[in-house]
Amino acid sequence: SNLNHPLKNLRGVKSTTVRNIGELDLAANSLLNKLIRQSLVESSHRVEVLQKDPSSPLYSVKTFEELRLKEELLKGIYAMGFNRPSKIQEMALPMMLAHPPQNLIAQSQSGTGKTAAFVLAMLSRVNALELFPQCLCLAPTYELALQTGRVVEQMGKFCVDVQVMYAIRGNRIPRGTDITKQIIIGTPGTVLDWCFKLKLIDLTKIRVFVLDEADVMIDTQGFSDHSIRIQRALPSECQMLLFSATFEDSVWHFAERIIPDPNVIKLRKEELTLNNIRQYYVLCEHRKDKYQALCNIYGSITIGQAIIFCQTRRNAKWLTVEMIQDGHQVSLLSGELTVEQRASIIQRFRDGKEKVLITTNVCARGIDVKQVTIVVNFDLPVKQGEEPDYETYLHRIGRTGRFGKKGLAFNMIEVDKLPLLMKIQDHFNSSIKQLNAEDMDEIE
Ligand code: ADP
Repeated sequence: SNLNHPLKNLRGVKSTTVRNIGELDLAANSLLNKLIRQSLVESSHRVEVLQKDPSSPLYSVKTFEELRLKEELLKGIYAMGFNRPSKIQEMALPMMLAHPPQNLIAQSQSGTGKTAAFVLAMLSRVNALELFPQCLCLAPTYELALQTGRVVEQMGKFCVDVQVMYAIRGNRIPRGTDITKQIIIGTPGTVLDWCFKLKLIDLTKIRVFVLDEADVMIDTQGFSDHSIRIQRALPSECQMLLFSATFEDSVWHFAERIIPDPNVIKLRKEELTLNNIRQYYVLCEHRKDKYQALCNIYGSITIGQAIIFCQTRRNAKWLTVEMIQDGHQVSLLSGELTVEQRASIIQRFRDGKEKVLITTNVCARGIDVKQVTIVVNFDLPVKQGEEPDYETYLHRIGRTGRFGKKGLAFNMIEVDKLPLLMKIQDHFNSSIKQLNAEDMDEIE
């Protein structure tokens, strides 16, 4: 059914492998973040800029007015509640709107304003009176394409004659149809068909080409090649823009192949630390004692909002059922749910309608729920071979130094897992105090 799914070639692979990959689905995570994001993600780092021509002056803007945008576009931006450009937009927008157009590769974590930036660039370059595709944006999935389209529609609310069309599977347009919409957003496979097989898009007329979520894109079989084939058919004066939340070497190689003579902008991610987190552990004789220990601290964890992590979906489900049966109000964020369902649970949690969320690692990976002050590791994160998974521990519990609140973390430890905890303590060089679950006064 889902032909673009990264799992399509994995039939016959052991089911555990498939499940792990599925849970780590980058595109789903990215969508989830978009669905729950309400505001910009802050960063204390400086934006790093590498200009293709280092001798040309470097402009940055502090206001949207400085960009001399079309009146109706500026109105759209303000109607979205944007007062001033985000950190990345301060540097990226002047480059993107320069004459002649400049190419750009930009990397910053999700939520820093990349989408808003390239949507603004597309809307400012489009000519509403010309009725053919002028801007082309590639996204890794159908759902992500729709999300970007929504931003175009919001920001372009007052650009009345500008229209968006989705080149996504399921949107069947007869060969040779005369497309009058100016902005096309789609997935690489379908866009490729629309350009070459169905002759719906004349690539030589495209002025702005955007490749969004490059890291997710290259993770999907075939999408890099499709994207490169599309890019090769664009005119040399077409502006080419690439965005990515992460920048491993593989993304970088791809970016360099597909974006000629780029400027490069990077905003480093805020690092996680355990500095402001008080960490405790409760030693439990057996697995079943962990539940009792959790109940004992339950009163303290519900003072704020808490996330309880389990190592497997099964464990998470079991724990949820137990707690509900004991009359506690908890909700389960599970990988079996659709992205929309997950987003709605996270939203309820963010709105404070739920106080305790039970989940597995991967489900909550990369999702920032700022107000979480208490984290419980019902199971310690481990790697195969019974080594602690340090990175996951940090992801669950760590907060960014400047923007994160103080927090509390509890680890429920079976006796035989104590060495793992000690390794974690040594690794981070931070102390994890033992807590007697019967005597909660010990929590400072
Ligand atoms: P990214 O593409 O990097 O994930 P987005 O462009 O989606 O980031 O922006 C993240 C959130 O911040 C969105 O809710 C968006 O509406 C909002 N946003 C973007 N730019 C601004 C701005 N200049 N001022 C206020 N909010 C903004």
